[in-house]
Amino acid sequence: MESVEVYKFGGASVKDAAAIRNVADRLRDVKDQPLVVVISAMGKTTNALEVLIDAHYNHPADLPALFNNLQAFHNDIVESLMPEQSKELLIDLHDLWVELNWILEEDPHPDYNYHYDQIIVFGELASTKIVSAYLKAQGIVHEWMDARSFMITDSDYREARILWEQTSEAVNKMVKPVLAQNKIVITQGFIGSTVYLESSTLGREGSDYTAAVLAHCLDATSVTFWKDVPGIMTGDPRQFEEVTLLKEITYREALEMTYYGAKVIHQKTIKPLQNKNIPLYVRSFDQPTHPGTKISTSTTAQLPPIVVVENNQVLIQIATRDFSFVAEGQLSEIFALVSSLRIKVNSMRNTAMSFLLCVRNETDKLEKLRIGLAERYDVKMEAGLQLITIRHADQAMLDKMHKGKTIIFEERFGDTDQFIVKSEGL
Ligand code: ADP
Ligand code: ASP
Ligand code: MG
Repeated sequence: MESVEVYKFGGASVKDAAAIRNVADRLRDVKDQPLVVVISAMGKTTNALEVLIDAHYNHPADLPALFNNLQAFHNDIVESLMPEQSKELLIDLHDLWVELNWILEEDPHPDYNYHYDQIIVFGELASTKIVSAYLKAQGIVHEWMDARSFMITDSDYREARILWEQTSEAVNKMVKPVLAQNKIVITQGFIGSTVYLESSTLGREGSDYTAAVLAHCLDATSVTFWKDVPGIMTGDPRQFEEVTLLKEITYREALEMTYYGAKVIHQKTIKPLQNKNIPLYVRSFDQPTHPGTKISTSTTAQLPPIVVVENNQVLIQIATRDFSFVAEGQLSEIFALVSSLRIKVNSMRNTAMSFLLCVRNETDKLEKLRIGLAERYDVKMEAGLQLITIRHADQAMLDKMHKGKTIIFEERFGDTDQFIVKSEGL
């Protein structure tokens, strides 16, 4: 089989009929090369499904209206995308909505995370059905595949881990033969299945990771993420005006950026690609002739300062009660709890009698942490903070980022400056 390429289209790149036509144009450009296309839910559908799930537990009276909105959003796109040929597709989608409705008619499952995953997958299933029907009408030969038949995960719902052996085997058995016929494979990002055939998901924004996992299993020549930005910039263009495009960065740099919270790529994406030396391109779906950013091993010239801002941070102060030091024994106890709750530590520092952790505000997990620590420690949590990371900082950038901010703590290590500030705008 010829070498495989992987494309990934996120929510913004399939948010309406025009965006889906653009996807078809990108696929028409690919000639005689096996291609896997990973697609997210349309626009903000995953957020809408989260509201629906919450309503199922807490406000069931809202369900009919939320459900109708979801259906209408997709049906409207179908009507404007292919007004002449919408009938068959609407029937196909209707089957999906009926299936979702069955779930909503029952009581919600006592395990929230499990229940969430059984519902949230409908976003990706609906979007890929729509894109697939449009491609078919356009004569673009492809096969729609349910990612749950080959993305095999553990049962840690909402944050499932890939079972690599099973996934690789399933990809070889199911995806490779389709690609060998030089067909395009259209599949969903983000979603998978446990070995017990229950739907699971890889964590919010996980479609990037799906693309990387498939590229790894298929020994792809490259992966391309089509996004609503020109590529990876020196900061989030939604937050900063004066950002420039990074034409080339190393896996290492990309990993650092995602680690510190750059939203442009999902955290887990880089490793499977780096391990097989597969380059990742981040390109603009609005400007397809522009090369965007290439992420690979090649070393680049000195990089400009790169800023990553992670909002919604909490500073946790864990203090001993009896004037004893926070020493190795206590630290290992604290970390055992942090790790069992799958809390990601963004920054930390220890002082004589307390230990500071900066983490994302995930209320449920933090409440469990507080309860777990309360017996032996005084625990204070301060929310509403931002973690600002600057890579390759120069003095001008440091001055700019410090200006007007209340800094809670700050540190520098190698090429990385970090500070935690109160969120009061940038
Ligand atoms: P997708 O739905 O395709 O996965 P995302 O919305 O997750 O797309 O990622 C693209 C967004 O990432 C951009 O709209 C931008 O606001 C944000 N972003 C954050 N940091 C950066 C950065 N350094 N460069 C480019 N975009 C960034
Ligand atoms: N649709 C999912 C989300 O919004 C996954 C993704 O888009 O990457 O989180
Ligand atoms: Mg994303």
